[in-house]
Amino acid sequence: MSSVHPLGLHHVTAIASDPQRNLDFYHHVLGLRLIKQTVNFDAPEVYHLYYGNEAGEPGTVLTFFPWPGAPGGRRGAGQTTTVSFSVPEGSLGWWRDHLTRLELDPTDTTTRFEEEAVAFHDPDGLRLELIAHAATPHDPWEDGPVPGEHGVRGFHSVTLTERSLDTTARLLTGTLGFSPTIEEEGRARFGVADAGAGQIIDVVADRSGPDGLVAAGTVHHIAWRAPDDETQKRWRGEIVETGLGVTDIIDRQYFHSIYFREPGGVLFEIATDGPGFTADEPLLELGRRLRLPPWLEPKREDIEAHLPTLELPDA
Ligand code: ZN
Repeated sequence: MSSVHPLGLHHVTAIASDPQRNLDFYHHVLGLRLIKQTVNFDAPEVYHLYYGNEAGEPGTVLTFFPWPGAPGGRRGAGQTTTVSFSVPEGSLGWWRDHLTRLELDPTDTTTRFEEEAVAFHDPDGLRLELIAHAATPHDPWEDGPVPGEHGVRGFHSVTLTERSLDTTARLLTGTLGFSPTIEEEGRARFGVADAGAGQIIDVVADRSGPDGLVAAGTVHHIAWRAPDDETQKRWRGEIVETGLGVTDIIDRQYFHSIYFREPGGVLFEIATDGPGFTADEPLLELGRRLRLPPWLEPKREDIEAHLPTLELPDA
């Protein structure tokens, strides 16, 4: 029996094309706060934009690598194909009106596992859902363009599309400490910790559809929460023992990370809760200017000269 039990989702990272369009959408349409403006540490010519609730608590954070002019990807097997957020029960009518007014073509309200959901796409084609959920996993960002009573309250779940349910299920339950919870119409749900919002992963089996292609409009990886460095180190050892290739622990400035691919091909990360997004700027100023880790700071002038200008929403 495994002792790896992530606390839930830490963040989800996706690819976008135009950074300004990406910021405008997640700020104005979804009402998420830009909590960090930095670069892709592995490719500093590209932004890394982080959105979340006011403090960017783990479990609320959606991040993007916006590559201007990036070609569109393809949703398919071996990918995280939908990112679902939790909104208050009774708010889906407001959200459908809001999305319809902005010509974002939301789906009708559907019911899955006894919860109501509305789906739509971001400007690059990333598939998003809002799921009406009874519990309040996280506070919404109260000072954004979306009224707090309807605000996004962190992740509800993610959906993976896989060729085979079995191998991914074995990793989730055998190594990562998830439990199967419920299953219907080719969709199996797994939960970790309390199996509440942000602690849910759905796996959909698709034997005949296309393979996923990671580019603009698709998810790059999903990250699970480790409470601290000690625990992460121990978990890393246990994942190594399973024979899955896993990276060394990497300093991501706001958290420490390890990465591995689950057997179906989806890139997983385990990220520590700390140090958090106030590591290099105060809460009130999160996201207002470009932050670089110490090892990239000497190259700031060059990095800034090559990044497209971002027009920030009013503070
Ligand atoms: Zn990540």
